[in-house]
Parts: sequence; C-alpha cells; structure tokens
Amino acid sequence: MSCVKKSVCKLCRRENMKLFLKGDRCYTDKCSFERRPYPPGQHGQSRLKFSEFALQLREKQKAKRYYGVDEKQFRRYFALADRSNDVTGLALLKLLESRLDNVVYTLGFGSSRREARLLVCHNHILVNGSRVNIPSFNVKKGDVIEVREKSRQLVKVQSAIQSVSRRTIPAWLEADHASYKGTVKDPPSRDEVTLPVEENMIVEYYSR
Ligand code: SF4
Repeated sequence: MSCVKKSVCKLCRRENMKLFLKGDRCYTDKCSFERRPYPPGQHGQSRLKFSEFALQLREKQKAKRYYGVDEKQFRRYFALADRSNDVTGLALLKLLESRLDNVVYTLGFGSSRREARLLVCHNHILVNGSRVNIPSFNVKKGDVIEVREKSRQLVKVQSAIQSVSRRTIPAWLEADHASYKGTVKDPPSRDEVTLPVEENMIVEYYSR
C-alpha cells in the first residue's frame, strides 16, 4: 500500500468518488466526500477542463488508490497484465481484485482494504491452512481464505463482520462468516469489479 499518511479522505475528493478507505466512517454522514464533494485545494470548486492525459492519469490514480497500491507495484501489475492472454485492462483489474488484502476486505473480515492489509501483515490470515502475510499474494480459484483461530475474536474482525451487510459480496467469492472462512469460486469477472473505472484509459496512459 502506498505511504499515504495524511487525510485519506482528500484522495476520495481528488478522485471525485468514495474510495471507502476509512471503514465504518465511510458509511456515515462524517464522510468528507459527502460533505464536500469537490476536489481539495484553492481551485477545488472551479470548473476545470481536463486534457486527455489528465483524464487518463486520474483513472490510473483512482485504481491505484482504491486498491492501495504504490506506483511501482501498479506498473508491475500493468506489465503482467500486458503479457497475459486476456484483454490488458481486464487482466489488470483481475490481478488487483485477486490480491489477498482485497479479498480479505471483500469477504468482510476487514472494514477497509487498509485494515485487511494489516490483518494479512500481522499473520492473522491463512490461505489453504497456511499462514500468508503477503498482502499482494494473488488468490486462485479454489483457495480457502480463513481468519486464524486465535485472531477470530479481535475487535476489528468482529466489528468488520458485524457491518458486512452494508456491502455486497461478489459471486466470485463465497463467505462463511460463522466459520471465518471464504472461498474463491472463480476468477473475478468485469461485472463483479465494483470500482467505476475506465481501464482502457489506464492502458492508454501506460502505452503513451
Ligand atoms: Fe472517502 Fe471514506 Fe473519507 Fe468518505 S470517509 S471521504 S469514503 S475515505
């Protein structure tokens, strides 16, 4: 995850959409984007005309920030996607969606991707019964993701599970919160990626 230490809410305002970076707060009226739905800074409320390049850059930044990936990692994902047999944009989104931290969040064991990443880094997550502490680990069809038994009563895990009803778990994943497990049923399809991004513009950005 990129080293964003200051207000992450500014990132949502910059990208003009809710990126859900702060867990529960994102669903309350304390959400900064709900209160100030315009970019931060002096010219935030001015009508600016964006160049083609600026629009491509914004789409790339949006995806990077949503998944909490830094520039170097994102470029690496793009290179992998470019070499795959899939359409590059789709392959890129599939790689990002399949990151272990994203899957832990999507299954509802973390209230934000950042929190899910910490759960992974701190050895609270098992994949197919083995401890995996690499947030960028890519899950595959059939993988079983599980909160380690000793970690199941963590307040963060409990509160994430309690508030999971606010989110929809996509069909490519199956969650069983009673047993703190989730299964990857299939690779994610484009329709199941909830980020409203134009991946073609990201491809164009890196193909300049
Ligand atoms: Fe974004 Fe969440 Fe902050 Fe709202 S509360 S601006 S969705 S990070």
